Amino acid sequence: MSRQVEDFVPLNPEQVSIYSCGPTVYDYIHMGNARTALVTDIIRRYLAYRGYNVKLVQNLTDIDDKIINRAAEVGVSAKQLAHENGEAFFEDSQRLGIHPADVHPKATEHIPEMISLIQTLLDKGAAYVIDGSVYYRVNQFAEYGKLSNRKPEDLLAGARVEVDERKEDPRDFDMWKAAKPGEPAWESPWGRGRPGWHIECSAMAMKHLGETIDIHAGGEDLLFPHHENEIAQSELATGCTFARYWVHVAFLKIDGTRMGKSEQNFILLRDALDNYPTEVIRHFLVSAHYRHPLDYNPESLTKSEGALRRLNNCLDALKKYEGQFEENGIETSSLQDAVQVMKSQFTAAMDTDFNTAQALGAIFTLVGEVNRSLSASNKAYAPALAQAYQALTETCEVLGIYNLDAQDSSNVEQHDQLVDLLLEIRQDARSRKDWDTSDKIRDRLKELNIEIQDTREGATWKIVS
Ligand code: AMP
Ligand code: ZN
Repeated sequence: MSRQVEDFVPLNPEQVSIYSCGPTVYDYIHMGNARTALVTDIIRRYLAYRGYNVKLVQNLTDIDDKIINRAAEVGVSAKQLAHENGEAFFEDSQRLGIHPADVHPKATEHIPEMISLIQTLLDKGAAYVIDGSVYYRVNQFAEYGKLSNRKPEDLLAGARVEVDERKEDPRDFDMWKAAKPGEPAWESPWGRGRPGWHIECSAMAMKHLGETIDIHAGGEDLLFPHHENEIAQSELATGCTFARYWVHVAFLKIDGTRMGKSEQNFILLRDALDNYPTEVIRHFLVSAHYRHPLDYNPESLTKSEGALRRLNNCLDALKKYEGQFEENGIETSSLQDAVQVMKSQFTAAMDTDFNTAQALGAIFTLVGEVNRSLSASNKAYAPALAQAYQALTETCEVLGIYNLDAQDSSNVEQHDQLVDLLLEIRQDARSRKDWDTSDKIRDRLKELNIEIQDTREGATWKIVS
């Protein structure tokens, strides 16, 4: 809000609260939505890395014009369409390595909270009813415009402001929409209807995180009017600051234009994930600071693929030194200094408004140092390599560009396939009555603690200790 980088001081030092505006679930999410969701995931991971306890709430807007219209187009109920796309959203997020939020509230499950917030605003004279719809009276909130810094005349230019002649002031916005025939609707003191988009986030944020939240995040398109209106509703109702810090993620673009559903230029996250590994997509998305636009193009993803190969090769070579921190009397190494420099540069970059681009720079500088160290003629110093391994895996885990578990599980899978292959070769040998080869495979596997059992259905194997 101050448009400056400020020291981060959470309201409650025990727990940082984050609210992130989630998707309107009328379709699969695209790479632009993924950028915003990933930034929240990284903020949360980094705060945890710095020792904070974090509570993250990310909503799902599951009732909206777009959902109603799309459901009518495809011939399913709005509820069914929102449910399917909500599930798809969780599946896609998980594939991108995004940890689930602590709470994923759905708008349709918070109607009583929204009604009660609207009632509070009506009681304070900050809202009025016209034909079963309830509008927020903007002129009652003197600070309206403080987030977007817009002058009154510019305040009309919001993308989602609807023209409605009945409003007292064109800036007023609806918090409750009177039911139209055939649309989903809920009972309320003003008649049947459904909530407006802005009231959903105010009610869900305050229900799950309290009247004041630490960090409120969303894409840059939400700054006005959505977040401005969330502030107006929440602060007038409670008299407290609604969010202490705002994070607005710049657009992911394609050919210089915002990636978006209405622009018809989007790449679905699930399609990107079919073509590139999770870590490559994450690397690409964090290669720019979140406040700068980023352009989606195949060349950038190819670059990320190359960078990930370099990182993985380096970590594969380092893995055997894991945990070997013991000094063993040999000379100390300049690599140890490089590890310390990387750690402090990484922290400095992330501390400065989560500058992931600079953080990546620090990581890859150390990768270069490690590679030089490993290929140097004098023997590399094991404790320094162990420290490098630890520092690289910890920092890469914050960005989610190195997944130890995935690495392990793919190794397990490959191991199993290799043993199956040996069993197949042994079966071929047995059908040729080549008992020597058959026994050799069995005995050598036994030495590796893998025991073969010949059954009537064929051979099976198990690991014995
Ligand atoms: P929507 O489903 O349109 O409400 O968007 C869900 C989230 O994705 C919101 O926080 C949007 O601001 C964000 N978003 C949409 N398009 C983009 C984009 N091209 N780049 C970054 N964030 C976006
Ligand atoms: Zn929102």
